[in-house]
Amino acid sequence: MSEEKKETQKIDFSNLSRLQLMEADACTRCGECVKWCPVYVFDKKEDITPRGKLRKLRKIINAQNSLLLKIFKPGSFLAKLFCPQPVSDAYIRNFARDLYECSTCRQCHFVCPSNIDTVELYEAIRRSIINAGYGPLDTQLGLVTSTKSYDNPWQQPRSHRAKWTRTAKKPGGSTRSRSC
Ligand code: SF4
Ligand code: SF4
Repeated sequence: MSEEKKETQKIDFSNLSRLQLMEADACTRCGECVKWCPVYVFDKKEDITPRGKLRKLRKIINAQNSLLLKIFKPGSFLAKLFCPQPVSDAYIRNFARDLYECSTCRQCHFVCPSNIDTVELYEAIRRSIINAGYGPLDTQLGLVTSTKSYDNPWQQPRSHRAKWTRTAKKPGGSTRSRSC
């Protein structure tokens, strides 16, 4: 199936704090986070590592917000020479998908020598890209529809919303253990 070429949407990153913008630039590409990311163990793609995500974030911010874009006419010889290369719609869609390949466990934050608060940063970026129309992802649409229709994400009728708690029930007791 051929992928329809779509126009790239401008992403408003103004919800990122100054500290978060500095953090995006503070990655030294040391790779410590790559050693510890539990998701990377199962899907060895550089783009889903914190290092990869921050690299792509910087590329998108530079491509869409560089001051040089205001100086040189888009598409001109000088723009091609001096301005950051534009990013395609597909590039941003892949970035959005990679952002959600993360369990938000924070392990990368704890080991990062630059002390980047990665998960807070991912959450802020997710808000920006979804507000720009790059989400929810196809894989999330079912969850959104189910939550709107049934108030739960696992497509169960409202009367079955708490069904999952049965697996946690202890014999002869409540669903929660009171022992320490
Ligand atoms: S540990 Fe921190 S500085 Fe090193 S590559 Fe990962 S995000 Fe960048
Ligand atoms: S927060 Fe996400 S990127 Fe960081 S170590 Fe955990 S799964 Fe990997």
